[in-house]
Amino acid sequence: MTTDTAAPPPQAQQHEFQTETRQLLKLMIHSLYSNKEIFLRELVSNASDAADKLRFLSIQNPVLLDGDADLGVDLVVDTAAGTLTIRDNGVGMSRQDLVDNLGTIARSGTKAFMEQLSADGKKDAQLIGQFGVGFYSAFIVADRVTVTSRKAGETEAHVWESTGEGSYSLEPAEKATRGTYITLHLREDEKEFLESGRLSHLVRKYSDHIGLPVRLKVDEAEVETLNKAAALWTRPKSELTDDDYTGFYTHLSHDPGRPLTWAHQRVEGNLSYISLLYIPSTAPFDLWDRDKARGLQLYVKRVFIMDHGAELLPSYLRFVKGLVDSDDLPLNVSRELLQGNRNVEKLKSALAKRVLDLLDDMAKNKPDDYAKFYEIFGAVLKEGLVEDQANRERIAKLCRFDSTASVDGAKVSLADYVARMPEGQTKIYYVTADSLAAARAVPHVEGFRKKGWEVLLLSDRIDEWVVMHLNEFDGKRLESCAAGGADLESDIATPEKEKVETEFAPLLERIGKSLGSKIESAKLSSRLVESPACLVIGDFGFSRRLEKILKQAGQAAPAMPPVLEINPEHPLVERLKTAGDAEFDDLAAHLYDQSVLAEGGQLDDPAAFVRRLNALILSGSRPAAEASRIIVD
Ligand code: ADP
Ligand code: MG
Repeated sequence: MTTDTAAPPPQAQQHEFQTETRQLLKLMIHSLYSNKEIFLRELVSNASDAADKLRFLSIQNPVLLDGDADLGVDLVVDTAAGTLTIRDNGVGMSRQDLVDNLGTIARSGTKAFMEQLSADGKKDAQLIGQFGVGFYSAFIVADRVTVTSRKAGETEAHVWESTGEGSYSLEPAEKATRGTYITLHLREDEKEFLESGRLSHLVRKYSDHIGLPVRLKVDEAEVETLNKAAALWTRPKSELTDDDYTGFYTHLSHDPGRPLTWAHQRVEGNLSYISLLYIPSTAPFDLWDRDKARGLQLYVKRVFIMDHGAELLPSYLRFVKGLVDSDDLPLNVSRELLQGNRNVEKLKSALAKRVLDLLDDMAKNKPDDYAKFYEIFGAVLKEGLVEDQANRERIAKLCRFDSTASVDGAKVSLADYVARMPEGQTKIYYVTADSLAAARAVPHVEGFRKKGWEVLLLSDRIDEWVVMHLNEFDGKRLESCAAGGADLESDIATPEKEKVETEFAPLLERIGKSLGSKIESAKLSSRLVESPACLVIGDFGFSRRLEKILKQAGQAAPAMPPVLEINPEHPLVERLKTAGDAEFDDLAAHLYDQSVLAEGGQLDDPAAFVRRLNALILSGSRPAAEASRIIVD
């Protein structure tokens, strides 16, 4: 790498920062002060990105390298001037790049970054890389920052300078070679960053694993190369420590947490590649933002090709961070090419299996970590039950659910459920509701609980789709407690039961007439214990919750009236037997409405429900119609 000096501009042209940039600078300097050393990590990481970009562009256009393919970063200390300069010979920036990248914060993450800034300096220090505002950390230790840059392939250079107080200057400059020099005029009390010991410690701490040599020069005399400078994933596993892996993870993901686990693999054969996959321990703030670019970093034969290779993993594994370095893909591979490429398809399926192996292993050997993982990413993983038919059984084994048998809120696996099934139970039962509490309180569960049959309590939005796709596990059908067929005693006909059925037949018919098209019919229930009634969907009906979700999404669900099941032992039902016509209609409508409410549904006419309820409360033994007149008048 050649060095040259940049002459300061004679008359600098002033530009205002964007308002947000100014705010950001202030906030950042203030809140990151306790972690000020991270500026070096950020600037070295930018230099490394610039080298990656140049390597990539030079595949198509080798002239860009201009005879200097020896990419690296120099930290240059000038003790007399009190400056630290980070020099790279990467891709460089044009005048417009300087304006766009350093003068504005066009990135959508900026606002979110500012909102997330907290009093916790440690946390904020990690956030900064995640939001693409790392460059500005230079102002934590410098009261003036000078950036001289020349873009690869161009002849002009420019110098950008700012004190971080609202404006920056931009002028043409002299620079003989491509690349960027970032000079930090260190604040009076930050001179520690001129000491070689301090600098080499920081480089080892933060930048050991980047595939680019970082050299130290004190007053222009080269001291040493500070880091290992070999891309971590190309080094043998046996040489790498846990700290190496977690350090690299931080560099790669900008995630504040330690990864829960990782897998580093070199595969040779049909497909040859190296993969390094991490399972994070924290969710990114935009986990549910579907438009957000994600995916693994893609390298081809050690050359960085792209961030966010979304085609490299199925979307239900989007929480995985890491990289793939392929020997089979062409260096000029583009996103479009990735999409239809057979090798990419094979790679994707191999990587998905690798991640599932990793999760299996964690579930078996580190159940506490797995529970933590599942708490954060379980709802994403579950999408795989819908999305990935080929791996459905494996994913089902990895899923965990709330259940009536949960101890201390711990989720259960389907395998545990099946192992616990008592004699006589042949199916896996579940209910779905908007929240866990609502699921627990759904009347349909009462009979199952009394009988000692476990019920899975599903309250994630995705669960409605999960149960549509996961029809069975380990040969056992999954069935909703609210489904018509899931009647606890339907197959046992006793003389006693027949007697009750005959006794109630006229009542059931009368209820059916009274409620009309709202229900398909009324039946006696054996799944209720405390509640007077519940609604049961037919074998092909949609669950009411799914109907609701579809409605919210603007899609009409096919209307299938449910069956109203009543509890023959409940006093309200008893009262129906002797009710006059008007009271009967009110009571029947009330039973229907409260069944809707009890399973977390919404009433079509809440005002009518309130009126009827008040009438019933006030009526005592008086006919309800009369009482309701009192209220209405
Ligand atoms: P991020 O690196 O996350 O994009 P930064 O604030 O660290 O955010 O950098 C902003 C942008 O400035 C980078 O995306 C890059 O385009 C440009 N940049 C910063 N440093 C350099 C450099 N040394 N060489 C070339 N471009 C750079
Ligand atoms: Mg950066």
